[in-house]
Amino acid sequence: MEKNKLVLYNTLTRRKETFEPINPTHVGMYVCGPTVYGDPHLGHTRPAITFDLLFRYLKAEGYKVRYVRNITDVGHLEHDADEGEDKIAKKARLEQLEPMEVAHYYTERYHKYMDMLGVLSPSIEPHASGHIMEQIDFVRRIIDAGFAYESNGSIYFDVEKYNAQHHYGCLSGRNLDDIVTDTRRLDGQEDKRHSYDFALWKKASPEHIMRWASPWSDGFPGWHMECSAMSTKYLGERFDIHGGGMDLMFPHHECEIAQSTAALGHDSARYWVHNNMITINGKKMGKSYNNFITLEQMFDGSHEALAQAYSPMTVRFFILQAHYRSTLDFSNDALQAAEKGLDRLMKGIEALGKAKPAATSTINAAELEERCAAAMADDLNSPMVISALFDWVRIFNSLAEGTQTATAEDLELLRATVNRWVFDILGLRDEKAASTGGKDMVTPLVEMLLDMRMKAKQEKNWALSDEIRDRLTAIGIRVKDRKDGYDWEIE
Ligand code: ZN
Repeated sequence: MEKNKLVLYNTLTRRKETFEPINPTHVGMYVCGPTVYGDPHLGHTRPAITFDLLFRYLKAEGYKVRYVRNITDVGHLEHDADEGEDKIAKKARLEQLEPMEVAHYYTERYHKYMDMLGVLSPSIEPHASGHIMEQIDFVRRIIDAGFAYESNGSIYFDVEKYNAQHHYGCLSGRNLDDIVTDTRRLDGQEDKRHSYDFALWKKASPEHIMRWASPWSDGFPGWHMECSAMSTKYLGERFDIHGGGMDLMFPHHECEIAQSTAALGHDSARYWVHNNMITINGKKMGKSYNNFITLEQMFDGSHEALAQAYSPMTVRFFILQAHYRSTLDFSNDALQAAEKGLDRLMKGIEALGKAKPAATSTINAAELEERCAAAMADDLNSPMVISALFDWVRIFNSLAEGTQTATAEDLELLRATVNRWVFDILGLRDEKAASTGGKDMVTPLVEMLLDMRMKAKQEKNWALSDEIRDRLTAIGIRVKDRKDGYDWEIE
């Protein structure tokens, strides 16, 4: 069978393209990470899980992947990096903390919740504050290339000059006229030549806490600069994939492309991949809608919009059930359905574990792998992977009941396929079993003991046979003897 070639939707070209990495064995991937100003929330889940899926899949396909995901700890405003008081600085001033204390606290919280969601740690997680030198150097390259100007100690990108030679707006499909209309409304543009120019370096006001020395002023880099500087440092001037949420396409990614093109003469990333956004009960998440849900609230059910607590794997499974480029609405009904679906999948896998080999197979065991592989290669179609798994859950149950049969070889193939797709690539885990110490370990251990018990019975060692059963019962594992073997379950 020919291997499925990954086809990815490239936002830059607006079409699906066959994925051909620059180096055939190594993939470089950069994803815009969290700003560590506040507690991790539902908005963090979709980009983290989408690019975790891509990371896991590429690795499972045999690529060596260098996945770089940054931490934005140099404070920037949410809507406009150029103006006003920096958020970390404000919180630090109010609570008399070092800004890095605030950033560190929320970075740790982010890691904790990503871990619960089964999101793997990236290969490198560079902090913007640790790469000020690289950012200053990148700004200097843009100035030397003639695409930036100084004004009162700040450095701005000259969008008009750039746009005369390149297309500013190529990623989001805008042209400069649209952007003029969009940006004209903003206040406080006094240092800039044009409203659409963006800061590469900003001179700090006297009360600004986070500041660094530069050739132009004591100040701080513009928000877009960290991703250009850090992706170039760790992945080189050309790399394969740049990812992030759709909300970052403009201005953030547009500005990154302009910065790279101005400094290096070309865009850095070959494939731009964007996940769609989430809504909550049909509305954008935001404090004004009273639907801003942190991950802590999601997992303990304490937010008033939630009918119950939802486990991390329910949230992960729910997100994977939608294609990453589709919109996704969080509602209690949809989450409860996901919770039931995940339970059904895990029970099916448990049934597969109990199926006994037969002399012949009534099933085509290779079909599951073929369907999953074809779906995933088609622009990461995780909902189709899950739909193939659900079709096979019915077969797993039949195999356990004996209404369908499979040879030992076929059972082994199915178990390997499930491990690869459910646990390695989709990154799910069986939370119920995990609470008793990790399903992956429990099953072989219990079965080893029960096989030893069968042997003891054959040797008429009733004392040992009973002891094994009683001690398993004592730790909550119920054993049922059958004519030709045994059944067991965790109570
Ligand atoms: Zn970024």
